[in-house]
Amino acid sequence: MAETTATGATTGTGTTPAAAPPAAPAETENKPPKIKVRKPRQRACDEKDDKGKFCFGHLKRWYDYPKEIEALVGKKAEIYRCEFCKTIYKPNTAEMPQSYTLRT
Ligand SMILES: [Zn+2]
Repeated sequence: MAETTATGATTGTGTTPAAAPPAAPAETENKPPKIKVRKPRQRACDEKDDKGKFCFGHLKRWYDYPKEIEALVGKKAEIYRCEFCKTIYKPNTAEMPQSYTLRT
């Protein structure tokens, strides 16, 4: 009986690097809106424009906001938006909840 000792052939394990997908391109077409916290009894926007002038836009309650905003402020949040510069205002949570007289 012949004994054959087979010397194992070196099997090179080919490491094929997985093709990594490129990182998601940065979307800069829509800048996220600016979100500020409303000061107590604040009704006018105090955001300054490029020239340093106050906006004084009327802050309106915004009910029907899109999903992007919902991701930022949550569902059914009480938020206000400036009618001019579209800055979003969140109610001041440190403020005691007040019962404002609803204008009809
Ligand atoms: Zn404004």
